[in-house]
Amino acid sequence: MTDVECIVVGAGIAGLAAAATLRSKGCAAVVLEAGARAGGSAWSERIDGHLVERGPNTFRVAPAMDEFAREQGLSPLLLKALPASGERFLVRGGRLVAVPMGLVAFARTPLLTRGGKLRLLAEPFVRGSDASGESVAEFATRRFGGEARDALIAPFLTGVYAGDEHQLGAEAVFPSLVAAERRSGSVVRGLLAQAFRGGPKARAGTWSGAAGISSLTDALAAPLGDALRLSARASAIAFENGAYRVEIETESGAQTVRSKALVLALPADPASRLLGALDAEAAKALGSIESAPVASVALSVASDATRVPVRGFGYLVPRGEGEVLLGCLFSSRLFAGRAPAGRELLTLLAAGRRKPAAIDWSDDQLLAALLAEVDAVLGLREAPRVLSITRWPRAVAQPGRDHPRLVEGARARLARFPRLALAGAHLDGVAFGEALASGARAARQVMEER
Ligand SMILES: Cc1cc2nc3c(=O)[nH]c(=O)nc-3n(C[C@H](O)[C@H](O)[C@H](O)COP(=O)(O)OP(=O)(O)OC[C@H]3O[C@@H](n4cnc5c(N)ncnc54)[C@H](O)[C@@H]3O)c2cc1C
Repeated sequence: MTDVECIVVGAGIAGLAAAATLRSKGCAAVVLEAGARAGGSAWSERIDGHLVERGPNTFRVAPAMDEFAREQGLSPLLLKALPASGERFLVRGGRLVAVPMGLVAFARTPLLTRGGKLRLLAEPFVRGSDASGESVAEFATRRFGGEARDALIAPFLTGVYAGDEHQLGAEAVFPSLVAAERRSGSVVRGLLAQAFRGGPKARAGTWSGAAGISSLTDALAAPLGDALRLSARASAIAFENGAYRVEIETESGAQTVRSKALVLALPADPASRLLGALDAEAAKALGSIESAPVASVALSVASDATRVPVRGFGYLVPRGEGEVLLGCLFSSRLFAGRAPAGRELLTLLAAGRRKPAAIDWSDDQLLAALLAEVDAVLGLREAPRVLSITRWPRAVAQPGRDHPRLVEGARARLARFPRLALAGAHLDGVAFGEALASGARAARQVMEER
């Protein structure tokens, strides 16, 4: 039995952010990680002269992340995407169509009919209601109309959640839009009012780390030294005499660590399994959060080997326009130095809620289906070089209609356990920056209870 000051379980970005926050507040945290490397789904790798992201590709720098980066000295590592990557595309009728980013482009876009555009513009005049318990599809239809839902919002959900607008909950997916409607009776009026009020704003643009997303997780993992225990899976938790006993399985056998403070920074499933011994109801609630599988495939193509030029951010594939492929990022156009001269790096995201079974397909079957879909849109003049295929059976949490109440309920039931906090992307937002912020918050909660 080893006694330590604080235990963090999970060394994804949530757990690493929790550990860094704890340590900067004077609490020497030990981090237990089941895998052989830190970072969780954040995983950048140099392959054959390309900088490949096997998991998340980019992130937003919201105020909480900005503050964390400043406090932890990570700001110099943040890298903004190239300006030309601001152009984004959707597939429509087998061709790439630019997503309208301004009013003139909106007026001209073929993605919506005139009626669909007018319905979208009428949002400020649509009577306000409350989105509690609504799916994203219901909320979007009510506020913006069915056309905007299908042409713009559903593809966006494919990109971020690999999910389905009929199953995802509006309150969890669009918290700021739902709050704007609650405040002002209209999303647009609410957002405009908030913009005039001022306050901290997210940094403009899309971001990564200087050497990929792993720059950030590596920078947070490095100072932990021996306090980061890799290949150490937490297998059971108990609360006894005011302390948490965490049983761990390691390559050299079973061990036990004990501490008065515990942050569980795990995906929903393992968090649920571990919490079962503390509170069955909270465990059940977290265990009910579903997730979507994603396969990430990195391809290298010669810059002149596609009939449609590779430029901009990349494209999303709306339902009905593809079977397995959800989207294709033009990674070498997002950030400089991601591919050798004369080559382009494409990152394909596949499966999701659209075709979950594809996560179990063989490499050959998956590649054949994906290359056919890419070829149909980009026109491949030669076979791309396959750099990596990474399968994430539980890639992205799928917060449903009652997600905020479900998470609140689980936290309320666990509130009787002192200095225990939850973190991770399944709780308050599925994005990388939101997972980071959840870890920093969990650490502060544990410290405040001291
Ligand atoms: C393919 C893919 C693409 C994505 N793209 C983007 C994107 O472009 N932008 C974006 O913002 N977000 C994206 N995301 C989401 C983003 O990656 C996540 O929100 C974030 O990385 C989750 O961090 P986390 O720390 O909550 O969880 P994880 O990264 O899953 O970390 C949890 C850690 O816990 C460990 N663990 C599990 N069980 C145990 C146990 N019993 N004991 C000890 N350790 C355990 C795991 O090994 C893992 O390291 C993507 C995700 C995937 C999979």
